[in-house]
Amino acid sequence: MIKKLAIFGVGLIGGSLAKALRLAGVCETIVGCSRSEEHLKRAVELGVIDEYTLDPATAVGDADMVLLSVPLGAMRPLLEKIADHLAEGAVVTDAGSSKASVVAAAKLAFGEVPDFFVPGHPIAGREKSGVEAALADLFVDHKVILTPLPNTSPSAVERVTKMWEATGAKVQTLGVEQHDKVLAATSHLPHVVAYSLVETVSETDCVDQIFEYAAGGFRDSSRVASSDPVMWRDVCLENREAILDSITEFQANLGDLKSLIETSDADALLELFAHAKKVRDQHVTNS
Ligand code: NAP
Repeated sequence: MIKKLAIFGVGLIGGSLAKALRLAGVCETIVGCSRSEEHLKRAVELGVIDEYTLDPATAVGDADMVLLSVPLGAMRPLLEKIADHLAEGAVVTDAGSSKASVVAAAKLAFGEVPDFFVPGHPIAGREKSGVEAALADLFVDHKVILTPLPNTSPSAVERVTKMWEATGAKVQTLGVEQHDKVLAATSHLPHVVAYSLVETVSETDCVDQIFEYAAGGFRDSSRVASSDPVMWRDVCLENREAILDSITEFQANLGDLKSLIETSDADALLELFAHAKKVRDQHVTNS
């Protein structure tokens, strides 16, 4: 299905896609490209990619599919480096966690967003990064959201859809703005809150004891604060407005909850917790 796939950023997401496509036997050759030769050599040693280059233009020279799975802040410089070197008929896609910023980066790099560029985002991940953390089954039964634009070529969307489906993922499409709003609430806000929760605890004078006795609740709620700081800095900067809206709503809710505790309003507290439990139980399975 894919003759040569060029992956920029052979980390958790790029490495997992490479492993999954190998397992599915749908890709002839995979070339990796990033900044560190050591990381790329390791990816070859692990059998995740076939070959590597440090030169973006060389990486895309004869690739029929190109994936950008680098931190959001690195998307535009990379797109600028490959824009004039893509092979005829190549499809370009990305895995970035916010979409409006990547679309804007593509527009700046190419002059207009090309019809062969398919913005994408796999809704799968873990709080570990780098090629060593890559898993062949990371995307199985997970959603991948594509956010094609009105001018995006249907055949390019179809090729990217087939690529992700070969990993076991379920592909859906959303509008760019809708994606960024939904993901700000469901993924970006929880990460911001987890980082803030750990910071709050780390500023107390009994931090060691707190972590010593941190059982399920703190461990579960703070798990994603072990995620890559560079990635989350970039997500906050690149999906800024939607994340700020989510934080504002969260602050208002937390303020309401604080007032109920201050006034010892048992009935209202019970009602709030029961409502939140009902909503979560309705929507989140297997937990
Ligand atoms: P990762 O494991 O840290 O891998 C990122 C890779 O990008 C590294 O291999 C790094 O290799 C390369 N890289 C970093 N900066 C670069 C630059 N300036 N130029 C070229 N290469 C660069 O990160 P990841 O978790 O796979 O995330 C990759 C993308 O997927 C991000 O856009 C993120 O928003 C998105 N995403 C992540 C998750 C998640 O849960 N982690 C989920 C969905 C989507 P070198 O050090 O060799 O340059």
